[in-house]
Amino acid sequence: MSSRKFFVGGNWKMNGDKKSVGELVTSLNGANVPPNTEVVCAPPSIYLDFVRQKLDQKICVAAQNCYKVAKGAFTGEISPAMIKDCGATWVILGHSERRHVFGESDELIGQKVAHALAEGLGVIACIGEKLDEREAGITEKVVFDQTKAIADNVKDWSKVVLAYEPVWAIGTGKTATPQQAQEVHEKLRSWLKTHVSEPVSQAIRIIYGGSVTGANCKELAGQADVDGFLVGGASLKPEFLDIIQAKK
Ligand code: PGA
Repeated sequence: MSSRKFFVGGNWKMNGDKKSVGELVTSLNGANVPPNTEVVCAPPSIYLDFVRQKLDQKICVAAQNCYKVAKGAFTGEISPAMIKDCGATWVILGHSERRHVFGESDELIGQKVAHALAEGLGVIACIGEKLDEREAGITEKVVFDQTKAIADNVKDWSKVVLAYEPVWAIGTGKTATPQQAQEVHEKLRSWLKTHVSEPVSQAIRIIYGGSVTGANCKELAGQADVDGFLVGGASLKPEFLDIIQAKK
């Protein structure tokens, strides 16, 4: 049995308004968070302060993105310092939508990881292959390259959670099978053992994302190297409360 604390992240993406965000917070405040589980919710940045003020402290708050420097002439961006100022303690970086809709490179994501960690935020660092890459048999190469670009920028691994999110599974209802997830997670752990260290490879949470639901979470959570989830669509629904219980 691993000693890694189960990690459930809810990525609300660009959804909600004050009313629905308020309702979601009320429902989360009633959640029973098991002692072996850490829960983090990522509202749109404009609601970070609102959510942190209303959400019970048993649940942490994350931003969905940030920029690589503290302040300056970067219209539309937010910094880790601002995220912390709103009381949030985590940031999601390298999400596939940032990579593939907004064209963020491995290099930029690495710089953001370095800066966010230096500022004291926890980082949920996302990686994952696209469908054509899986079909071409290069899943390992893609996720190892992405992981390296992140790893090169990490000194303190205790604040990093690695999220494996196959792009073909995100928002598609096509969840990776527990075996597919476990296979990649195990390879990532062994990559970390070789390229970072054995203790880091054992301690780091490697979480799965991509169409996680209340119905499939328990079987996925039963895999040896699946240490939690990053949940998109289902994090806006009542079933998120079941996903929090996946490892109970
Ligand atoms: P999904 O999104 O759960 O809606 O597939 C996951 C994610 O993008 O983190």
